[in-house]
Amino acid sequence: MKKLKITINAGHGLKNSGVYDPGAIGPGGLREAEQNLEVAKILEKKLQARGFETLLIQDGDLNDVVRESNRWQADYFIALHCNASTASTAEGVETYAWLPGGMGERLAKAIQKELVLATGLRDRGVKYANFRVLKDTDCPAVLVEAGFITNPNTEKLMRQDVFDEKVAGAIARGLEEAAFNRTVIK
Ligand SMILES: [Zn+2]
Repeated sequence: MKKLKITINAGHGLKNSGVYDPGAIGPGGLREAEQNLEVAKILEKKLQARGFETLLIQDGDLNDVVRESNRWQADYFIALHCNASTASTAEGVETYAWLPGGMGERLAKAIQKELVLATGLRDRGVKYANFRVLKDTDCPAVLVEAGFITNPNTEKLMRQDVFDEKVAGAIARGLEEAAFNRTVIK
């Protein structure tokens, strides 16, 4: 059977202009781009172990990221981000799809459910947005906001490998559930 191809896009990083975009920055100084990449690397290993082919991209402008993924003919596209708010108490996880009713939404729902179970963080639900990585990708795509980096408690969690493992594991299980229409126990 042909391996399913998964693009993992760790949000932010080095842009084509040469400027490094750190993304949101936590109160303790953790940079979102680095957190996204840590989770992405763990997710990549987990997906490869489960028989998926992976393409991990961080750097470059979003147009190029999308183009590269489309050229590679990815079956699914997963963008990893951390949420941010001016309210330091804002918390929880949420997952975006482009539109309701399609495979992207199904994937978002499966990942969101697993994320809430794995992290115990507040369920902010599945949301919809016409982000470039969601609408310009040729395959079902989701954008995961795996916690608020601006929340001091969540930022502390993000500094622990065990949290990154939980997030990556949840995304891998959600992908398997959505892609193969099955429940994954572990
Ligand atoms: Zn971001």
